[in-house]
Amino acid sequence: MNIFIVGGGGREHAIAWKVAQSDRVTGILAAPGSDAIAQLDKCEVVNISVDDHDELLQAAKDFQADLVIVGPEAPLVAGFTDMCEHAGLRVFGPSKQAAQLEGSKQFAKDIMQKYDIPTARYGTFTDLEAAKAYVTEQGAPIVVKADGLAAGKGVVVAETVAEAHEAIEMMMSSRAFGDAGESVVIEECLIGEELSFMAFVHGELVIPMVTAQDHKRAFDRDQGPNTGGMGAYSPVPQFNDALLKEAEKRVLRPMATAMVKEGMPFTGILYAGLMMTNEGPKVIEFNTRFGDPEAQVVLPRLVTDLVDIMEAIMDGHEIPIVWRDEVCVGVVLASEGYPGSYEKGVEFTIPNLTKVGQQWFHAGTRFKEDATWTNAGGRVLLLSTLGTSFEGALEDTYEILMTREWPGLFYRKDIGHKLLEFRDR
Ligand code: AMP
Repeated sequence: MNIFIVGGGGREHAIAWKVAQSDRVTGILAAPGSDAIAQLDKCEVVNISVDDHDELLQAAKDFQADLVIVGPEAPLVAGFTDMCEHAGLRVFGPSKQAAQLEGSKQFAKDIMQKYDIPTARYGTFTDLEAAKAYVTEQGAPIVVKADGLAAGKGVVVAETVAEAHEAIEMMMSSRAFGDAGESVVIEECLIGEELSFMAFVHGELVIPMVTAQDHKRAFDRDQGPNTGGMGAYSPVPQFNDALLKEAEKRVLRPMATAMVKEGMPFTGILYAGLMMTNEGPKVIEFNTRFGDPEAQVVLPRLVTDLVDIMEAIMDGHEIPIVWRDEVCVGVVLASEGYPGSYEKGVEFTIPNLTKVGQQWFHAGTRFKEDATWTNAGGRVLLLSTLGTSFEGALEDTYEILMTREWPGLFYRKDIGHKLLEFRDR
């Protein structure tokens, strides 16, 4: 089989790495891919932006792709999957309509409300003064979200009313996120432990994956601004099987059914960002693709062939999925200054890995020469480690990271701290 992968970040590196392990796969073409993806077995890359849909489609056709996998959200929300289908290509990802679950927070909230899927109380506003008045009435803490896509940065958890007002101004008046902030969703602030719960979905067929937890804040002890994610681990022992069953029953399955009832059945990865509150699991957000960095700690635990799973589910079959019992942790190396501005072109070498179950996933790197790489994005690398215990996997990860200085890059030293604290309780 030939597999065409759209995207070129850490998540797509992990997808390509996993797909390359399939005996059925002979060739992989990633667009735009990355220098690191190009070095994987069976992989080639072609420099086409994920926004250039006509070129992407042509490249997938020329490659005679048997399956197209779309990694990032932007092409899904913009309807690239529909284009593939019209062209007769098999594609694993939601339609433009179904991808609104991620593309519009208001759309997602309205469906959740209609189908009684537990989520934070909210209001939606297109008028700045009305939004501010709602915040004043509700009080703080309170959460302000740009309605549209904002690369994971369109959410402000405001501790005070003034901070929330500032966030509203930033989104609606200064238009920090462009059109994405034309409308804002203002939400009750939920308190509890967070969970990324993803599933393979086709219509009403839902096959949940093992769980993961991301680390959104830039700095240790969850300080600093929100980022795309600074590290992750899988599974999340803070959520026992009973809670996961409840989340599957109250969130993932009803949402798949709701989308069928709405006439926009979902195909692809449905990702529920959950908060475990005193009243049970509540949805923070839905995404319509693998999480990044969650994919980098979930896919290494997957034993079953990923292409088999995608094909089976699109054919409407349940398929038993085998996961490793081992846990997986991932720590991100990011460019100094991220999620703000940062310098590109900083040179570094990447330590060799000798332990089985350890893997570098590249998010934003360029290959320079010999063993030298440079940074080309905010998030640069993720070191993913499987282990029989979290303590062991974390130790193996940090041991590698601490073998050297990383000038121009930084990483969090406390990935997994919540689970270790939970264990010690
Ligand atoms: P998102 O971009 O929607 O993933 O949100 C980024 C982060 O903001 C989440 O991972 C949460 O930590 C936080 N967040 C979003 N919505 C809420 C909420 N209603 N209550 C508390 N925290 C939230």
